Amino acid sequence: NAQFAVKQAKQQGRPNIYEPREASAARRRFSLETELRRALDRDELELAFQPLVDLRSGEVTGFEALSRWHHEDRGPINPCEFIPVAEESGLIIELGRWALCKAAETLSRWDKQAGQKLPLQVGVNMSAIQMARDNIAHTVQEALSCSGLGGDRMILELTESAIVQDPGRATRVFEALKGLEATVAMDDFGTGYSSLAYLQRLPIDVLKIDQSFVRAMHQDADSIAIVRAILSLADALGMKTTAEGIESLELATTLAALGCSTGQGFHFARALSPDDALAYWDNRRGKGLAG
Ligand code: C2E
Ligand code: MG
Ligand code: MG
Ligand code: MG
Repeated sequence: NAQFAVKQAKQQGRPNIYEPREASAARRRFSLETELRRALDRDELELAFQPLVDLRSGEVTGFEALSRWHHEDRGPINPCEFIPVAEESGLIIELGRWALCKAAETLSRWDKQAGQKLPLQVGVNMSAIQMARDNIAHTVQEALSCSGLGGDRMILELTESAIVQDPGRATRVFEALKGLEATVAMDDFGTGYSSLAYLQRLPIDVLKIDQSFVRAMHQDADSIAIVRAILSLADALGMKTTAEGIESLELATTLAALGCSTGQGFHFARALSPDDALAYWDNRRGKGLAG
């Protein structure tokens, strides 16, 4: 809030003048918090589903569920803006539980519509704050019981920051998630501060290569070197890999040739509504990587 912004400006040694731009940014943040709380109460958030594509076969293997907030006056608000607001206010606990339930419910509904257990998983993002303050494994268990979905259908995406704060707790949570047969993925891998030793110690199934490396691959030799290093590290440790931010067929083909298991990015599709996501899966069947 505004008072906090002033205090922070003082602490950072900036002039003791309350700048209008800061004031309005702080005000927007404060009202976003109030409005996000209300949106959660009224069930106004939605999930969009971005396809995860097997880079060998071209088949869709699942979707990442991404939270979407269409504000009635302000229009769509970017997750990069409202997720930090949710984290700072503690609302991320409620948002995270909602996202898990909604994602599990959606996949379970698709199964029912198709009259079979579809060969699809759904990934949900977990914030480091949830790792610290919620019992994630219990929350996942609840989402599974109320939707009737099997744990093997869920991917939990965690970041390195969720490990470094309390590695002991992270170990217990990851093991509990494995007990539920869920897949554990390290999101934005390569951008955090975790030690490589954790990779060996924790039951991690998938490394998601951050899109900053993927997108720079065709311009910059360093990024290719980093991607290659992550792929061979994952291979040596028996983990799968997902490359984020694939925006061209050329990148998809290169990553497939380098042995990356799964791809995600605008080249395949943006995050889609539940109906469009299911149609996308159906459409890609048997078409290969270029289709
Ligand atoms: P993330 O988990 O790394 O998700 C991938 C982000 O990259 C998504 O942005 C997705 O739309 C975007 N993306 C995917 N492919 C491409 C591409 O080819 N090019 C470009 N330029 N972008 C691509 P989005 O949906 O805006 O989400 C941003 C971040 O917000 C997510 O990054 C995640 O950290 C966070 N987030 C979103 N929903 C949730 C949620 O329900 N819970 C939590 N804790 N975090 C969430
Ligand atoms: Mg993610
Ligand atoms: Mg990511
Ligand atoms: Mg990211």
